[in-house]
Amino acid sequence: MTRFIDAHVHPPVASFLNGPIAPFLDDLRARVGEQIVAQTPEEIAEFYRSRDAKAVLLGWNSRAKSGLRSFGNRDIATLVEHAPDVFYGFGAVDPTGGAGAVAGIHEAARLRLSGLSFHPASERIAPSDRDGRQLWETAAEHGLVCLFHTGFTRLGAGVAGGGGVGLEPARPIHVDRVAAAHPGLKVILAHTGSLWLDEAIAVVVHKRNVNLCLSGVSPKAMSPELLEQIRGPLRSRVHFGSDYPFGSPDSWLAEWDSLGLSDDVTRAVLVDNIEALLAR
Ligand SMILES: [Zn+2]
Repeated sequence: MTRFIDAHVHPPVASFLNGPIAPFLDDLRARVGEQIVAQTPEEIAEFYRSRDAKAVLLGWNSRAKSGLRSFGNRDIATLVEHAPDVFYGFGAVDPTGGAGAVAGIHEAARLRLSGLSFHPASERIAPSDRDGRQLWETAAEHGLVCLFHTGFTRLGAGVAGGGGVGLEPARPIHVDRVAAAHPGLKVILAHTGSLWLDEAIAVVVHKRNVNLCLSGVSPKAMSPELLEQIRGPLRSRVHFGSDYPFGSPDSWLAEWDSLGLSDDVTRAVLVDNIEALLAR
């Protein structure tokens, strides 16, 4: 039986580390630790398989504004092919890419990916700050789940000017507007909004098509309000993610166990909720 699904994994293969996050890598290693090393697809699969776990692998495409190489649909699909028993794939298209982005969404569906990942801070554009209707309509049409990174980002943190990365596009309220306009779109709000936690909770409570990924917040640092939502109203719409390799599923899960939540809540958060969301 699957013990957990890590719903937020940035596969640390060389083409990702040396691609869209390359300029930030040294700083990330200094902050997070030296565990951010390149691995083969087989090593990543075995890391999860040996834990009776599965992983949702996320693409990244911020090319238009950052000029950095993307890690897109085909990169993710190739990884999933290595271990379809362990991996789910979320591709990525540049949301500023117009018709090209729409074509990329069709491609993600053809490649049988489960969703798409967006990182508004590094894309430097908010999900609602453009005429993105066609993007979200196309994703909804294919049943592709759209994940948005929200809140603080470690990219550019501590660097003068934040490395050019602004935080404002990552406000959860921008996702709210997308979810409101596209009720058929399945949405994940990742990292609980961090500095905008209240805003994130409000969006998820208000919009039934929005789910909350607990990646980026350690269980011991969860606010009483967030824990109350996990135990109660949002129990079927919150799920676990570690942000691997920037976070560790092992230490997150050990902290989670120390909270003493019921087995039912744990099963919902670690497996059932994300499994239901990814079912097509
Ligand atoms: Zn992430």
